[in-house]
Amino acid sequence: MKIVFMGPPGAGKGTQAEKIIENYQIPHISTGDMFRKAIKDQTELGMEAKRYMDQGALVPDHVTIGIVKDRLSESDCKSGFLLDGFPRTVDQAKALDEILTSLDSKIDYVINIDVDLDILKERLTGRRICRSCGATYHMIFNPPAVAGTCDKCGGELYQRKDDNEETVGNRLDVYVSQTKPLLDYYSLAGNLVNINGQQSIDLVFAEIQDVLGGNK
Ligand SMILES: [Zn+2]
Repeated sequence: MKIVFMGPPGAGKGTQAEKIIENYQIPHISTGDMFRKAIKDQTELGMEAKRYMDQGALVPDHVTIGIVKDRLSESDCKSGFLLDGFPRTVDQAKALDEILTSLDSKIDYVINIDVDLDILKERLTGRRICRSCGATYHMIFNPPAVAGTCDKCGGELYQRKDDNEETVGNRLDVYVSQTKPLLDYYSLAGNLVNINGQQSIDLVFAEIQDVLGGNK
């Protein structure tokens, strides 16, 4: 089962990824993990990536694609993988197709967790943190008993800068503009599956299982 996993921030992708890899016994291949491993193993590409990252520069595509190719060529990926965080662009998607063709393989499904942008905004801006003890709350999903006050220590709750409406809105806008062409690409290729992310964790996973089949 070779899966590309997509979804905006706040769509609950991490939770679903865990369930998928556990149920289908495939490795979770995230871009972050891949880079960390390549750097730790001091591969040629890992060292090249590190040079860019140390300078705070974007790692160029040929390096990223090389690292993906190395990782997907490893034996644990033979029967499947859940690729998360790559590809991000149509060029990368085309490169991924080439990598898999060279490995005599192909993507089975592109799973996209779909959530309405206004709902995402609500989820992402609802977080509050206690100034004193660091406990986290959510205005909708996990509200404190008394508004603005920590249940545990009585401390004052605040909203992190990253969670304010403007920052969240920008992040989502960037995501949508980057991802739209990619979704179109996979839709044309015929392996895009949109999953309704606006339901409980269990129902989202049930929908994923309906697509992937088997392995209860
Ligand atoms: Zn507290």
